Amino acid sequence: KMTAWYNGSFIDPDTAVIPIQERGHQFGDGIYEVIRVYSGMPFAMEDHLDRLEKSAAAVRLTLPMPREELEALLLEALERSGGEEAEIYLQITRGIHPRNHAFPKEDRPALSIIVSPARVLPEEEQENGIRVITTEDKRWTQCWIKSLNLLPNVLAKQEAVEQGAREALLIRDGIVTEGSSTNVFLLRSGTLYTHPATEGILHGITRDRIIRAAAEADIPVVEETFTTDALFDAEEVFITSTTLEAAPVCEINGRTTGSSFPGTMKLRNLLQQQIRKEQNQ
Ligand code: PLP
Repeated sequence: KMTAWYNGSFIDPDTAVIPIQERGHQFGDGIYEVIRVYSGMPFAMEDHLDRLEKSAAAVRLTLPMPREELEALLLEALERSGGEEAEIYLQITRGIHPRNHAFPKEDRPALSIIVSPARVLPEEEQENGIRVITTEDKRWTQCWIKSLNLLPNVLAKQEAVEQGAREALLIRDGIVTEGSSTNVFLLRSGTLYTHPATEGILHGITRDRIIRAAAEADIPVVEETFTTDALFDAEEVFITSTTLEAAPVCEINGRTTGSSFPGTMKLRNLLQQQIRKEQNQ
């Protein structure tokens, strides 16, 4: 069952708890993470907490509790939910203070957690691919920070949905940066390409795992930028995220780009092997 925490206590997920003067609510002044749970066990928890610490430092936010306590709390929330195939969403904001752009004098960060059932991509799309569109990347320069400010991502995703697609690939100066909530890969002549982990993209945990999977499979990896045209010249395009794992792309802007995805499937299988292996540790 859905289980939620706000600022010191477990709460009914449907109860209103965020005061109007909450900085996440008013400014998007906060950061977040999404962690996938497989068979009741969080996957890559340490990687997510590492990234959370980096995001926090980048926006000068102190974590509301030591990392070990946060980790224990996430596990408690998960246990209370009884979730087996689940997602843990956590966000930390600069807390409850009268509205004023500058930091409040007193440091009182607020933590929310919600554990809910995992959103899983339908089998049909996992196998036959998903439709995507391309759209301009209108975000700020610090996309490596997992900040709550997701308005450009929301607008891009909505544009995709309205065109019958599942994801919007973001284009900045002709370069494919990433998806609105995913990282983008392409396979060409046996080589795997993805945007380098610059400040301009989120350093996806799944992105990192796919790069590791490629090393295991002896697939060369090139972390270099590529253009929209390169998407159409690729043998395979796929996108990655905590919730999607690796999803093949079959159509871009209404043009069919592929119908079989042997490379993507191989990498996805290796990712799933990593997941299973870490669960048995
Ligand atoms: N890029 C963006 C903009 C995202 O919001 C996300 C995650 O939701 C990703 C990439 C994928 O990151 P991860 O694999 O860590 O879930």
